[in-house]
Amino acid sequence: MSKEIILKQVEARNPGEMEFHQAVTEVYESIKPVLDQNEKYRKFKVFERMVEPERALYFRVAWENDKGEVQVNRGFRIQMNSAIGPYKGGLRFHPSVNISILKFLAFEQVFKNALTGLPLGGGKGGSDFDPKGKSDAEVMRFCQSFMLELNRHIGHRTDIPAGDIGVGGREIGYLFGAFKKIQNEFTGVLTGKGIEWGGSLIRPEATGYGLVYFAKNMLETKKKALKGMKCLVSGSGNVAQFAIEKLIQSGAVPMTASDSSGYIFDEGGITQEKLDFIKDLKNNRRGRISEYADKFKSAVFTPVEEGATSNPLWSHKADCAFPCATQNEVNGEDASHMAKNGVLLLAEGANMPCDPDAINTLLENHIMYAPGKASNAGGVATSGLEMVQNFSGMSWTSEEVDQKLQGIMKNIHDNCLKAAEKYGFGNNYMAGANIAGFVKVADSMIAQGMY
Ligand code: NDP
Repeated sequence: MSKEIILKQVEARNPGEMEFHQAVTEVYESIKPVLDQNEKYRKFKVFERMVEPERALYFRVAWENDKGEVQVNRGFRIQMNSAIGPYKGGLRFHPSVNISILKFLAFEQVFKNALTGLPLGGGKGGSDFDPKGKSDAEVMRFCQSFMLELNRHIGHRTDIPAGDIGVGGREIGYLFGAFKKIQNEFTGVLTGKGIEWGGSLIRPEATGYGLVYFAKNMLETKKKALKGMKCLVSGSGNVAQFAIEKLIQSGAVPMTASDSSGYIFDEGGITQEKLDFIKDLKNNRRGRISEYADKFKSAVFTPVEEGATSNPLWSHKADCAFPCATQNEVNGEDASHMAKNGVLLLAEGANMPCDPDAINTLLENHIMYAPGKASNAGGVATSGLEMVQNFSGMSWTSEEVDQKLQGIMKNIHDNCLKAAEKYGFGNNYMAGANIAGFVKVADSMIAQGMY
């Protein structure tokens, strides 16, 4: 079947940007009926405009390591779409970061932010800097150099970055300190700040907690509950840690966690005490997940096997799966294993962790599937709540923020189903998320004229 002209144009104009092509193709396939039925979107070339960033920044970041050697990294900020609010989206520090990955993430962010119901545009940024193995002083010097350039492009009413892979509380602190020093202003220019200096309660927990709230809403449509369900979780960073925590609190049995060196399987379940060990290991000691199996004899560590065609983490018998590490970490073979093992539901904590084969396999096997732009939107939604608190000078309690987060996740869930049904996609959450996000942004773009 010949590829649609729009997709061919995207491939031709963005050569070699595989992740970006993948994200655009997925959205386009869902919104095609919307374009077919609405002449205004075709006439104003809304989709063609959406795939071009409003602005893409690319800059040098030079810094000095502890040995006094000069290091050179690349910094990026993709300001993708500001039709419904200022650019908003995380910063990723990881050696794999490139323009394709950041454009895919920024593109996804536009739809995700629209789904939250908050006035947030979409952006994403980061660097190929690897915080792993660096001292605190090296991370600080890198963050200061990165912000020396980024500061002139962001602002609390223009573009409000947050964390992502490799950017947690420590990095946000150094970035915020540098911005404040350069601009001589204390404003909510970043979210994910420390609670004593403008952060929101529940922001660290929000992506993982929101993911589990979304899964609960999905299960409720089948009159099921998480209690007693065996769960597979990948990753051991921010999203994975709080997904595991909320699963434990919900009476489910999270059995796995991973990092880029391998995964642990703990059949009896990761308890709160064991999770506290993971948090200390990853957030304070910055160690490897294999140490979990050294500490707890009930667990088995399996290292990553070079050249393996599937990830054994996903081949354990379970009821629910929550990929929370990185993009394209679940492929068609992994999804077939889940189907054979009777997995009922997969909800994405990471951005685009399922590749297109995996998504097709899940849907063909009637496994309930939630795309990250819906199921992991709790993080950015709570960043939005942090912004509201910064603007108003108020601080809400944990209970207040958590209540709002639960309400937002329920709305996103229901809006996905409503949009999917309206355009004949039944209960396909992916189509619903893409359509609901698209319509809101597209209508705003048309209303604001051509630019
Ligand atoms: P963290 O840096 O806290 O954790 C990332 C985890 O994923 C680590 O366990 C890391 O292992 C693992 N990982 C990263 N890259 C790879 C890789 N290439 N192969 C195998 N494992 C890998 O990041 P977050 O938890 O914040 O983010 C995880 C995912 O969730 C990302 O896709 C992010 O975009 C998404 N997300 C995050 C949000 C947030 O609020 N933080 C909001 C919405 C989505 P290792 O330490 O070995 O690298």
